[in-house]
Amino acid sequence: MSDQFDSDPPEDVDDVPTVTCSRCDREWDLAYELDELEVGNRAVEKFALDHRRHTGHFPDDVTAWTVDCRQCPSGERFLAERPARRWAETHARHTGHALGVRHGDAEETLVEQDNP
Ligand SMILES: [Zn+2]
Ligand SMILES: [Zn+2]
Repeated sequence: MSDQFDSDPPEDVDDVPTVTCSRCDREWDLAYELDELEVGNRAVEKFALDHRRHTGHFPDDVTAWTVDCRQCPSGERFLAERPARRWAETHARHTGHALGVRHGDAEETLVEQDNP
């Protein structure tokens, strides 16, 4: 990304991404994700998934892709469209069920089995 001043010590980097959660009333910087887990530009995603795993909810500013099966209780939440759609298509493929895929408050799109 930056092609200048590559020798800057990392301590001087003040653009470590931060994540806030109004439910927890907390704010985190992602230095741990970047330094310890080395997840790079997936740090926010990694943090959000970990946060949900441990607290049951996503932090602020994360708009999840929600997949809900209309015919059974299956459903999952994702941070990107691709895995959400893949999950929905896989579920449809194996079960024949129709699923709704929704991003935040946007309109739901339907995923159905390719070969009925
Ligand atoms: Zn939280
Ligand atoms: Zn189903």
